[in-house]
Amino acid sequence: MRTRRAALAATASAVSLALALTACGQNSDGGGKEDKSGSGGATIGVAMPTKSSERWISDGANVVKELKAKGYKTKLVFGEDDPDQQVSQIENMITQGVDALIVAAIDNKSLNNVLQQAKDADIPVISYDRLILGTENVDYYASFDNEKVGELQGSYIVDKLGLKDGEKGPFSIELFAGSNDDNNTKYFFQGAMSALKPYMDKGELVVRSKQTALNQVTTLRWDGGTAQKRMDDLLTSSYRSTTVDAVLSPYDGISIGILSALKSDGYGTKAKPMPVVTGQDAELASVKSIIAGEQTQTVYKDLRKLARIAAGMVDAALNDKKPEINDSTSYDNGVKVVPAYLLQPVSVDRSNYEKALVDDGYYTENDLK
Ligand code: BGC
Repeated sequence: MRTRRAALAATASAVSLALALTACGQNSDGGGKEDKSGSGGATIGVAMPTKSSERWISDGANVVKELKAKGYKTKLVFGEDDPDQQVSQIENMITQGVDALIVAAIDNKSLNNVLQQAKDADIPVISYDRLILGTENVDYYASFDNEKVGELQGSYIVDKLGLKDGEKGPFSIELFAGSNDDNNTKYFFQGAMSALKPYMDKGELVVRSKQTALNQVTTLRWDGGTAQKRMDDLLTSSYRSTTVDAVLSPYDGISIGILSALKSDGYGTKAKPMPVVTGQDAELASVKSIIAGEQTQTVYKDLRKLARIAAGMVDAALNDKKPEINDSTSYDNGVKVVPAYLLQPVSVDRSNYEKALVDDGYYTENDLK
């Protein structure tokens, strides 16, 4: 049986031949049109988790742009943070005959059946930013060095409190982690703890709530309101007679919730300054908050590059070529080690946001006003 991929590869070879002929001054179709994509007009399904966070809206737009530039058609869907909805969206795209899928999972373990359907239809799958677990039907993984993201957050707190320079504190800290159904959560947390734990062990950093295990500090679906409620509770239960000096937050939307709870409790004045609050994604509202002196830090991940890598993976998978891979060992999904390309995250605070974000063309000065 001629598989979809073989058919696409055949189309791609025909296109390459056409390009070669065109390069020699001849048009293969007589009409002077050439398809530079090598894509043979394939359609790519892109499933993003939610529109409730700016980053995923940018991801959707960036991925579509990169795929279109390669000559692909696209179908883009957002799952409203509902795993069942995401499964049926992917099912629909398979039924509609997409040729490849790019998926940022909501619940990393909910996709096994639907990805088996993709496999049966010979549709390659790229796991986008969040690794899909428990299935062999994932071809490639495009993400960032997720442990490094956490290390940047943890070591920022250590530096900012002066612990590395010999300050002994003890400083109070509270820990927040991401959603427990997102594979990245444990990497972020492990990375952060690798920087924080040595000081916790020495008693120089103290978690007054005693909630230090990952399963005590996760935030379902990365929800800012859930984080705000937990921070309210922590302030009430553990900080009546002392103040909190740092809060490890894994994501800007969670940081916004934490900052709201802190403000309601009177933080943010000379007498009661804001603690160090980390974040991730360099979302616009949070970069503005950093400039205004509220949130302290975020981790910038250049989503334009991530989209480029994912589109390159699709292109390679559909044309039987090898994509760019820089990690073949770290991301085991329980069934296989998924070949990955991991980009580097960058720590951003008030001192370097212009260089990191504006000079890089991620935001304009105007965006940040
Ligand atoms: C992403 C983060 C994001 C978080 C919440 C994670 O999987 O890697 O960049 O902050 O989801 O959307």
